[in-house]
Amino acid sequence: MLIEIDVAVIGAGVIGIAISGEIAQRNKEVFIFEKNRTFGLETSSRQSEVIHAGIYHPEHSLKTKLCIKGRSLLYELCDRHGIAYKKLGKIIVAANENGITHLEKLYEQGRKNGIEDLMLLSRTELKKLEPNVEARAGLLSPSSGILDSHSLQRFFYNRARRKGAKFVFKTEVIGIEKTRIGYKVQIKDREGVSDFVARVVINSAGLNSDKVAQLAGIDIAKASYRLHYCKGEYFSLSSKYRNLMSRLIYPTPEQAGLGIHVTLGLDGRVRLGPNARYVETIDYSVDETQKEAFYNSAKKFLPVIELDDLTPEFAGIRTKLQAPGEAFRDFVIAHEEQAGFPGLINLIGIESPGLTASPAIAQYVGNMVKELLD
Ligand SMILES: Cc1cc2nc3c(=O)[nH]c(=O)nc-3n(C[C@H](O)[C@H](O)[C@H](O)COP(=O)(O)OP(=O)(O)OC[C@H]3O[C@@H](n4cnc5c(N)ncnc54)[C@H](O)[C@@H]3O)c2cc1C
Repeated sequence: MLIEIDVAVIGAGVIGIAISGEIAQRNKEVFIFEKNRTFGLETSSRQSEVIHAGIYHPEHSLKTKLCIKGRSLLYELCDRHGIAYKKLGKIIVAANENGITHLEKLYEQGRKNGIEDLMLLSRTELKKLEPNVEARAGLLSPSSGILDSHSLQRFFYNRARRKGAKFVFKTEVIGIEKTRIGYKVQIKDREGVSDFVARVVINSAGLNSDKVAQLAGIDIAKASYRLHYCKGEYFSLSSKYRNLMSRLIYPTPEQAGLGIHVTLGLDGRVRLGPNARYVETIDYSVDETQKEAFYNSAKKFLPVIELDDLTPEFAGIRTKLQAPGEAFRDFVIAHEEQAGFPGLINLIGIESPGLTASPAIAQYVGNMVKELLD
């Protein structure tokens, strides 16, 4: 006789742990399976820790809606639970006429998305706010910020456990088979391979989420779920630049990423990145030969920096649904009933602003599960 549970969550990144707490607090039995020794060791700890405002994407997209809702939930959570953050604001800068046109478009998009505090800045206004930044114009987003994403994940983890969610680490999901009442899930740990049955399966497996969907029987080519990896590397700037600026500084966005930007750590450390390079394999090393490209990119708006002040720091990998050159793709958060898989919820392509959106994604998926189980 197989053990039966209500919900199996695959993957304990920020998305899986946030969702687990949301479901557990609605009195459902949740088990989270994570192949690593603990939560948050992959993409969720290899990112910029920026709380995004929700400017860049189309107004009706999940990326926009869940980012804007997630941002306000995050600030509330941080205040209520003592998670460190700074709402320091961000300025997107334009180096030339093209850039200024781009800023105006972003301003319009941001207003359409419902962000009312955006301000276009002239060169003089920009200089007053950030004397070390050189650009023709800027777009100020006062509600962007940074947070301690490790504390956030610890908070989500502790909350989920307190509500009764069970974390099963060092355990990989290797099979998912549809049954009469749900899914037979096959797991592999140090003891070997075993099975159980879950009424609902939530795939929040990050970089592996397309493969996990395929395990369950989804035709990922037909569904257009195949992921492309896009690496983002970071270089840190030496400590003498600690007070170089007081806001996040971004260039106008590129096709695959937001452009090599300058972020600040909560301790004032300055970091450049991430770049955006499509790669075939998951490898978190930083290619030191990229140093000059980072320098040349950042030097355009931060002329005071010197090449020798850059040190390779870390890298993360974006889970992109769009291949190089392809158009915008939204988050996939789908109950797969139409595809013939009732009770299977796939989260695929949860790239930036996934961290910002995490509490809103948790509520969104929590409501889907409520409809399935209540
Ligand atoms: C370079 C970079 C910068 C970013 N910057 C920001 C930012 O500033 N702000 C922002 O809002 N967002 C940012 N993001 C996006 C954000 O980091 C992600 O959206 C978020 O971390 C995704 O979390 P996740 O839980 O989906 O994935 P992950 O953190 O990768 O978690 C997935 C988990 O699933 C586990 N897993 C996979 N397969 C299996 C299996 N078969 N069985 C068991 N476990 C499995 C993995 O081990 C992993 O722990 C950035 C992303 C990148 C790459």
